[in-house]
Amino acid sequence: MRKHIFNAGPCKLSDSLLKNTSDAILDWNGMGQSILEVSHRGKEFQAVMDETVALMKEVLSIPEGYSVLFLGGGASLQFAMIPYNFLKTKAFYVNTGTWSSKAIKEAKFWGETVVVSSEDKNFTYYPKGYDIPKDVDYVHITTNNTIRGTEIFEDLDVKAPLIADMSSDFLSRPVDVSKYAMIYGGAQKNLGPAGVTFVIIKDSFLEKIVADRKIPTMLQYGIHIKEGSMYNTPPVVNVFAVRETLKWVKSVGGVKAMEKLAKERADLLYSAIDNSKMFICPVVKEDRSRMNIVFVMKDQYKDKEADFVKFAGERNCVGIKGHRSVGGFRASTYNASTIEDVKALVKAMQDFEAQNA
Ligand SMILES: *Cc1c(COP(=O)(O)O)cnc(C)c1O
Repeated sequence: MRKHIFNAGPCKLSDSLLKNTSDAILDWNGMGQSILEVSHRGKEFQAVMDETVALMKEVLSIPEGYSVLFLGGGASLQFAMIPYNFLKTKAFYVNTGTWSSKAIKEAKFWGETVVVSSEDKNFTYYPKGYDIPKDVDYVHITTNNTIRGTEIFEDLDVKAPLIADMSSDFLSRPVDVSKYAMIYGGAQKNLGPAGVTFVIIKDSFLEKIVADRKIPTMLQYGIHIKEGSMYNTPPVVNVFAVRETLKWVKSVGGVKAMEKLAKERADLLYSAIDNSKMFICPVVKEDRSRMNIVFVMKDQYKDKEADFVKFAGERNCVGIKGHRSVGGFRASTYNASTIEDVKALVKAMQDFEAQNA
């Protein structure tokens, strides 16, 4: 039996991805060879790469004038590549937790950072209503904060080029891509297995590349666009698996359907938390993430947290232990999570409360 998987990343993936990728690993398209064994320059894999890029554009309604890349190094390498390529003097960062802090750390190698932060309240809300200096090279945001459980649901209107780390809420809602200079993320939270990074980049933004800084070839966006993500050997199975996710998202109704399901799952779980005697969510209501639902036990029950993780595990709900920096619990409900998964967790919470509160 498949468990109710709430892991934060790597995370639950669609059944069709698991099945079709397994088949391709054993014998791809009846070629008598595994996808692991054929050249990435062959026509079969080139077709996979082309179709994956085309599906990204279709599923997310990416307008003309954008390139889609599949790179290595994770979202973490993007933290460095972005300032390396685009930070001339000053960049604006919204600090909403661990991942944005890491992005800021890298930017500081290349220039000045102006930061607005929600650290004053332990990252339990999403900053709003701040001023951005006119002379920044770009604005960097993290749309969903995987560890803290906050999320922004609107596509911001800012004057400077907007860059978003969408690692953990990608494809969970329609996005107006035209408002962004760049969107990127590690695949392992909504798009596929760990090992590939997606980058959607506005071609005209690339013209901003800092001319008087020498950038190693592998870290230049331009080279990856020119070579169609094949400057070096791409992670072939990962790209194949991403294509399976995109096919699956499309077949079940696209990002609108993903958004509807995400709301249903999150509403169900947050209302169970809000109606509980034992559990409480530390995040302000309007900024609560639909993807990473963070909750803890009320002070008088704190000593029961480990017991609940065990109790839920016995009911096949796995991966709910909170991040070590926050404690408590985190249920990650990405695109492949089902209402049944969430119902099983809610039932476990209610049963535990009945026995312990
Ligand atoms: C997980 C995560 C990252 C880091 O991704 P890697 O691919 O492991 O480098 C960055 N940003 C966010 C929002 C994340 O959730």
